[in-house]
Amino acid sequence: MIFKSLFPDIVLPKTGIVQYIFSNPYGASESKPILIDGLTNETITLGELRSLVNRFAACLQDQFGFKRGEVVAVYSCNQIDYSVPLFGTLAAGGIVSPVNPAYNEKELVFQLKEAHATVLITHPSGIDVAIKAAKAVGIPKERVLLFGGKAVDGLKPYKSILGKREAKPVEYSFEEAKTTTAFLCFSSGTTGQSKGVETTHLNMTSNIAQQDLFEKAVNRGNETYLGVLPFYHIYGLNVLIHLHLYLYRPIFILHYLWSHRSILSLSSFILTTFQGCPLVVMQKFNFVDFCDVLQRHKVTIAHIVPPIAILLTKSPVVKNYDLSSIKLFWSGAAPLSAELSQDLTTRLGSRIKQGYGMTESSPVSHIVPTENIIEGSVGLLMPSMEAKIVDKDGKELGYGQAGELWLRGPNVMKGYLNNPKATRETLDAEGFLHTGDVAYVDRNGFFYIVDRLKELIKYKGFQIPPAELEALLLTSPLVVDAAVIGVNDPSQATELPRAYIVLAQGVPATPETAKSIEKFVEERVGQHKKLRGGVKFLAVIPKSSSGKILRRYLRVEAEAETKNG
Ligand code: AMP
Repeated sequence: MIFKSLFPDIVLPKTGIVQYIFSNPYGASESKPILIDGLTNETITLGELRSLVNRFAACLQDQFGFKRGEVVAVYSCNQIDYSVPLFGTLAAGGIVSPVNPAYNEKELVFQLKEAHATVLITHPSGIDVAIKAAKAVGIPKERVLLFGGKAVDGLKPYKSILGKREAKPVEYSFEEAKTTTAFLCFSSGTTGQSKGVETTHLNMTSNIAQQDLFEKAVNRGNETYLGVLPFYHIYGLNVLIHLHLYLYRPIFILHYLWSHRSILSLSSFILTTFQGCPLVVMQKFNFVDFCDVLQRHKVTIAHIVPPIAILLTKSPVVKNYDLSSIKLFWSGAAPLSAELSQDLTTRLGSRIKQGYGMTESSPVSHIVPTENIIEGSVGLLMPSMEAKIVDKDGKELGYGQAGELWLRGPNVMKGYLNNPKATRETLDAEGFLHTGDVAYVDRNGFFYIVDRLKELIKYKGFQIPPAELEALLLTSPLVVDAAVIGVNDPSQATELPRAYIVLAQGVPATPETAKSIEKFVEERVGQHKKLRGGVKFLAVIPKSSSGKILRRYLRVEAEAETKNG
């Protein structure tokens, strides 16, 4: 059967993202600070942001001859003015490809090439990697610009080249907003390597409208928010746009740099601007600062991920702070157990609820309603969405039966960039997105994610495509075959990537060899992809007759091992 959202449908937004986010539906004053630097207290008002965005768009057009559909990549940790190049590029008719700041040169080159980026915005902390990667893909140095106020190594701050002219943001008809790509976040989807996900203007504006309609219980006038989301990920970006719509008390977005994380953040970023809410931006996450911000700013609602829930539940640091202002934590990006939810509520007295989504659904498809929190559930289907739960043969299942979750709605991506095969495998002819997650739905419409069919590993919310690590491992002279899976680490509420290796002839199966293989990987990937789950040796990798790695066998073995200590 097809499960329909229990909510009325949204009215589909009729404009492009820039017009939508600056439509200011909650009447924010132009002089309201909507972006606040958590460290320096520097602010940007709504009026200033609008002007900066339009000047950035004019700068792209006037100085670079920027054309519609050109791509700007943003490779940076969170910045108070992250939204300037982001919305400025959209205002100029371009596409934004946000990049994980933990990426190394090879990973950045891959994304720049795939996305065909012609301009790169970076932060001084990423300058060495950015310069080398830009050179490798032929982006001229004058098209590599910096956040911050100082020129470094011959690269200019983007602010230093803004002129006075403000461009009029490119307008899109409804049909154009439906088909025009706005963001290219990268996701491995259900299989294989990282792919550019084409998120259209309508995908993103719909998701903002869906969340806005859903979250009626939020007391927009009296909440103070905290988001712990990196802006390069669609989730953080979405909040950034949406929450600005509420515009009453500050929203705090701490940059969440546990070495690593992707469209989830992007989404949150967009949400705040739309809601006209102040957003306090922090570049780096550490737990003491996090607690300090919660206390000082009397945050009432905080967006977090499960590893932070663990810290809040277990860390002795918590008792040094008064966190009584927090009414609600909102957790996404990875599973949050009912047990952890209860532990957190017992310790802090505040409640915690989940949301669920993926880069390919722009990103939020489910949220638990605040007025009816069910622990362990990812919540109800968002307005204007439909879902199916199907068995392995594609047969539709009913209430209480677990199967693969398929989703349809205006927020479901256009497809994977230049990859019709992967698009066909993920988006079916009826428009359903095959999530690769196993779920069931109860009779009240609450969904529960119980397993993952797809290859993806998530380390603290950050994607790790196993296929990428396997391809890398096969280039090591020590390895003849490899399979990578995620093993659960309940103490950190995350998965850790583990490699199963068939060694080359004569290579001893010793701890030293395992260490060399771990080091080999560590030297060639972003920090989040390190083999934190270790290396195990096997005589043969279990495979199907068609040569597909049978990861389930490895997972079962890993789980048994964890249980047996
Ligand atoms: P990403 O595209 O990086 O946002 O990753 C999406 C994937 O994260 C989903 O397909 C799920 O496997 C996982 N995920 C996101 N939210 C949750 C949640 N609340 N519970 C379980 N898994 C989740």
